[in-house]
Amino acid sequence: MRPEILFPLFRPITALAGVGPRISKLMEKLTGEHIVDILWHLPTSFVDRRFTPTIADAPDHAIVTLEVTVAKHFPSRNRRAPYKVSCFDETGHMDLVFFNARADYLKKQLPEGETRIVSGTVERFQGVLQMTHPDRMGSLDEKEDIQTVDPVYPLTAGVTNKLMGKTVQHALEQTTALPEWLNEAFKKVKNWPDWQDALTSAHHPGCEEDLFADTPARERLAYDELLANQLALALVRRTVRRAAGRSITGNGSLRKTIRDALPFDLTTSQEDSLKEIETDMAEPLRMLRLLQGDVGSGKTVVALLSALTAIEAGLQAVIMAPTEILARQHMETIAPLLTGTPINPILLTGRDKGKKRQAILEQIASGEVQLIIGTHALFQDDVDFANLGLAIIDEQHRFGVHQRLALASKGQHVDVLVMTATPIPRTLMLTAYGDMDVSRLLEKPAGRKPVDTRVMPLAKLEEVAFGLKRMIDKGARIYWVCPLVEESDKIEVAAAQERFEHLQSLYGARVGLVHGKMKGTEKDAVMAAFVAGDIDILVATTVIEVGVNVPEATVMIVEHAERFGLAQLHQLRGRIGRGMDASTCLLLYGTPLSENGQARLKIMRDTEDGFIIAEEDLRLRGAGEVLGTRQSGLPEFKLAQLPAHEDLLAAARDDVKLILEQDPELQTERGQALRTLLYLFEEDASVGYLRSG
Ligand code: ADP
Ligand code: MG
Repeated sequence: MRPEILFPLFRPITALAGVGPRISKLMEKLTGEHIVDILWHLPTSFVDRRFTPTIADAPDHAIVTLEVTVAKHFPSRNRRAPYKVSCFDETGHMDLVFFNARADYLKKQLPEGETRIVSGTVERFQGVLQMTHPDRMGSLDEKEDIQTVDPVYPLTAGVTNKLMGKTVQHALEQTTALPEWLNEAFKKVKNWPDWQDALTSAHHPGCEEDLFADTPARERLAYDELLANQLALALVRRTVRRAAGRSITGNGSLRKTIRDALPFDLTTSQEDSLKEIETDMAEPLRMLRLLQGDVGSGKTVVALLSALTAIEAGLQAVIMAPTEILARQHMETIAPLLTGTPINPILLTGRDKGKKRQAILEQIASGEVQLIIGTHALFQDDVDFANLGLAIIDEQHRFGVHQRLALASKGQHVDVLVMTATPIPRTLMLTAYGDMDVSRLLEKPAGRKPVDTRVMPLAKLEEVAFGLKRMIDKGARIYWVCPLVEESDKIEVAAAQERFEHLQSLYGARVGLVHGKMKGTEKDAVMAAFVAGDIDILVATTVIEVGVNVPEATVMIVEHAERFGLAQLHQLRGRIGRGMDASTCLLLYGTPLSENGQARLKIMRDTEDGFIIAEEDLRLRGAGEVLGTRQSGLPEFKLAQLPAHEDLLAAARDDVKLILEQDPELQTERGQALRTLLYLFEEDASVGYLRSG
């Protein structure tokens, strides 16, 4: 249960003065629905109103605060003309200018003959100083209030900075001092303020430097967030690991049969990973391991051999993929390999319904089938296993951390192997998986040819489309990827449809189309035709992004490549270069291309190393966007900025290790404060893994 001290911060933002239902809807999108979310909304710049020159000395275009006497009001003569109020001080005259003004309001704010404080941007118009729509106006008593530094916040339509600033102030008023969860010595060395002071000062920048990521206030807040993240992960992970596992070894017979039948030797990384997995499985603890390997690095074989280890031991194994296409493909790759064995894998996806599904479920529950391949729905549904020993979860980056780890706690004693093709930078790895054990497939299977990547403007699209003829004549199979449209799947599908028709007009029936809105069976039919070579060009939205394997495909064209994340482009490009023939990737970009966009496409041209691409992506875009915001499943931080706060992340990880060694159930005074920290960052679920304190 959330501690009482946090109750005020978790009230809806409508509890704040000035935030009604209409405003709260707009603001929620920007911040979140609770008062605490407003606190995390830090300013990105500021307006300094401390400059108080005379009218004569006020520089053009400057933001100034002036002390003036109101001379006379000149209401607008027609709707388009402005309302003017002329003012003066001992050095000269000036005009305050208002459009669409309410006369009665202005008369009250600026009574003739009285001295007023006005603050805003000034400019000279035909020699006369003007201030259009002052940001602030007030009486002499309010001078100190006006002559301040205003934080400037990220905004959204309908929410002004003034409103945002006031709302933040009101939110800050709701805070109280919280018990300290930081190690005092560490806090002292870092020279960090208390939590409440840190918040207050982060919201009141006085100079440029106060906005930097390395100010004590911002560092402290970032550290709090990272500490909560690392602590939560450690708690979940500890619980999973503590759960009794069982020692699974197997006699190696099935594995030997398969290895002998493989048309290739395993790479060193594959061998190493298998050893690590087998060692984990043999331990009486539960395995929780991540297998990280770039596209095409050969994870499937590792998965299969691991599954066989469990099956040899008389247990069941399940391989789960994020999409139907992938589940099917795993089935198609794996089934033929198993022909020399008594193992009959079975496929279960959301598409199996009614009697058929019932029959499959019975086979799983009776233990008749040992290897089950399916979509993630396998875990969500009430699928009963006779004796599940190993769960392999493929391409899990589309899922949230907690979801992922919670999967592990579903089956009893089940070992878990998570596979991801996303080359996650080390930094993010820690935030998404904590200290999960990791095996990496570093080298690609022998015989791969590098992909020739070219970058060109969309203006060349027609030329490219015609040029495909030559490639098709040589027997090439081609992926044509249509632009990503973040805002609308509908537009995305429409664009794909249009390109499909366009290419069909050139190449007739040998063009196919797949997109996310198609029925599963339709998609399969098109994919099958592409695999079989009945179509040469496959027009697709990003549904082909993950895992699809057609070794004969050697050409990939990506429209509006600049709209894709680098990791995504890398995934897409990974679809080609899988066979023995040389491959080409054409990245078409829309103009004008930003400097950042140029830099990113250049990286794609220069390297195929997924880890380099991921690190560069992080450097160029920041953590939030590295994997494409869509479905990325990586935690998004509100206060911590990666990579700027990378060293804090490492410190938080070490901190957590010590904390859990010294106070495993968070019972001490600091432990209690750390519980509050977890609730503060909405890691409520992880507190459930502690003995109640
Ligand atoms: P991914 O890691 O992207 O899932 P896959 O497991 O689909 O990669 O493997 C890609 C291709 O490489 C498959 O056709 C697979 O049979 C082949 N492959 C896997 N391991 C090796 C190896 N050691 N040598 C040669 N080819 C391999
Ligand atoms: Mg794969």
